[in-house]
Amino acid sequence: MNRTAKGANARAAGDAATRLLALLGACTQRRTHATDTCSLLDGVCDALVDTGGYAVAAVRLADPAGDTLRTLRVAAGHRPLLWSELGHLDAPALELTLESDGRAIGELRVLRREGSFDDTEARALQALAADLAFSAEAIRARNAQRRLDEQLRQLSRALESSSNGVMITSSTQLDHPIVYVNPAFERITGYTAAEVVGQSGRFLVRDDLAQKGLTEIRAALRERREGHTILRNYRKDGQMFWNELSIAPVRDESGEMTTHFVSIINDVSARIAYEQQLEYHATHDVLTGLANRSLLHDRINQSILQAKRAGKLVGVLLLDLDRFKLINDGFGHAPADNLLKAVAERLNHCVRDTDTVARLGGDEFVVVAGSIDDPDSLAGVAAKILRQLAQPLDIEGKEVFVTASIGIATYPRDGDHGEALLRNADVAMYRVKEHGRNSYRFYAPEMNHMALDRLDMEGNLRRALERDEIAVFFQPILSLATGRIVGAEALARWNHPRIGMIHPPEFIPLAEETGLIIPLGERVLRLVCTQIAAWQAAGLPPLRVAINLSARQFRQDDLPRLVGRVLEETGVSGSALELELTESMVMHDVDNAISMLRDLKQLGVDLSLDDFGTGYSSLSYLKRFPIDALKIDRSFVRDIDSEADDAAIAHAVIAMAHSLGLRVIAEGVESEAQLELLRKYGCDDFQGFLFSRAVPAEEFALLVRNGRTQPPGTAP
Ligand code: C2E
Ligand code: MG
Ligand code: MG
Repeated sequence: MNRTAKGANARAAGDAATRLLALLGACTQRRTHATDTCSLLDGVCDALVDTGGYAVAAVRLADPAGDTLRTLRVAAGHRPLLWSELGHLDAPALELTLESDGRAIGELRVLRREGSFDDTEARALQALAADLAFSAEAIRARNAQRRLDEQLRQLSRALESSSNGVMITSSTQLDHPIVYVNPAFERITGYTAAEVVGQSGRFLVRDDLAQKGLTEIRAALRERREGHTILRNYRKDGQMFWNELSIAPVRDESGEMTTHFVSIINDVSARIAYEQQLEYHATHDVLTGLANRSLLHDRINQSILQAKRAGKLVGVLLLDLDRFKLINDGFGHAPADNLLKAVAERLNHCVRDTDTVARLGGDEFVVVAGSIDDPDSLAGVAAKILRQLAQPLDIEGKEVFVTASIGIATYPRDGDHGEALLRNADVAMYRVKEHGRNSYRFYAPEMNHMALDRLDMEGNLRRALERDEIAVFFQPILSLATGRIVGAEALARWNHPRIGMIHPPEFIPLAEETGLIIPLGERVLRLVCTQIAAWQAAGLPPLRVAINLSARQFRQDDLPRLVGRVLEETGVSGSALELELTESMVMHDVDNAISMLRDLKQLGVDLSLDDFGTGYSSLSYLKRFPIDALKIDRSFVRDIDSEADDAAIAHAVIAMAHSLGLRVIAEGVESEAQLELLRKYGCDDFQGFLFSRAVPAEEFALLVRNGRTQPPGTAP
């Protein structure tokens, strides 16, 4: 090799070294400036072609997502190439594996224009490949970290601005201490993060541990799974809120171990309050706040279930206000509503907390008394209700008196479900209405078919006489002229231990048929005379008490003797007693009747003709009987102010009776208008619900003592 050639070789070697150095320098620069893998690969390939003078530089790299990134550069003047052509080129090529941690992550291919790669060059390119692999890995790691950071930043921004409370607890430590809470948690609970971090996540439930939802949360924590429920939680100030809670486990990178639980806390108090309000409306009477019909059925059936288990009774008391329509019409709706509210309040006072008071609508109420040992206590509840209601109510500044009729049905005797009990209580209630109201009655199956079982009744009635179940009530009779009480009609009552007060139409006919009317009539006579004597002894003014006689009694020849004996025994004078007969009793055997009446009159007692107008109503016959008074039947009085015929008849009867020297007593006076007409027609005395029903002896004495009157033209 000549000098020139040698020199040229040395120059060439020097140029190659300079080029390699320049190439490494350019690559370092590109590497440091590369922000991502693509610009790194592009930069290095550009340097290899531009600075390194290579014909082709190609790099292929698997990126973390599993895609392959490729960059291919050809020197200026070189024909364009496809990747697929790389393997088939005839040019000298160097293939270098890109490795990271001993793992191949890609390859670098460099093609010379000509000649071959020498060792120095190959080593330099190997170093370049190693740097490239390192840089690619570094960029990847940096980007991954950045992404992670960004993700975390987003997550924490989301957490911090979430309207749901978030609480993160550690599940690797006992008691699951709180490690993080977000601002919404602080807002919802009133606790700051500093106050709760480190505490057990359970503290929000305080000691309200009897919650079904807690079981679900405990199970989720134990089984390390997601859980969802609604709990009563408590704020720092003690106020309860409804927490719709979702919890989810957070696992470590391996996915095997649960390190934390994230709890999402949603305050749904407003929603629950709304739902409860809806439910309240669906189950309660809006006016009074009492249970409505649908809740009532639930409660009755619940009580029945409990009673069944405990071997107890359930009482269903159906209560209907008496003459509520009058109040409604008289006062208007708003005051009547106030009255219903007041009644509801009183009812609530009469029952235990565990009992239910419901309003069925209108003026109908129901009390359900559970866990009852014997029906007597139900009678006690009913009596208490009547007493409570008897207290005057203030409606628009006026004293208003309300009374009620109560029917009682009991489980298991009268039914084993709500409907049957309510139906039977209703039947019993109607019986009360029919018989004077303001009272209560137990349902008896007989009520349904009206006719009480005859045989049963007969035995019962016999026992009633033995057991003193027959009582006498007194309905005041007043003088129309003075408005004062002048006497009373004694009305028999059978105080049946099971059915309650039974009124005469239900047992007098049977008593007559069976002959039991004889001892029964005698019992009534004795009770009345004993009572008159007691009143006289107590200083009550002289009163005349009327007793109803039955046809069979009237046919007893020794009736006058019996009356005389009882008067004597009780020390009562005949003038204090009036005996009521009916037309049919005297019309059959007129002569006998007349002699009987005369005998009775000998005793000084008064005689009156009851229910006048319903029978023969023959005034001409009346002249023949030694009677003192006529009682106009209440069926005439009822329509006296609406039916012209009835008014005319009443008017005529009063006038003719007076012409015969008879007193006239009107029965069944229920209204001021009726009373007004009777007064106009010159009627002497009257009795009726307008002033009072038949009441027990003590109550009657009170009416007399207090001088209660029926002032003209005013309601009681
Ligand atoms: P009566 O002699 O016509 O008695 C009046 C009846 O009318 C009583 O019914 C009384 O409660 C009712 N009454 C009174 N005021 C009014 C009113 O303003 N409106 C309405 N709708 N009714 C009113 P009670 O007590 O059910 O007696 C029914 C019948 O039973 C009596 O009718 C009488 O015939 C008979 N009775 C009652 N007690 C005895 C008794 O001791 N012996 C006999 N033999 N019969 C009796
Ligand atoms: Mg009568
Ligand atoms: Mg009558």
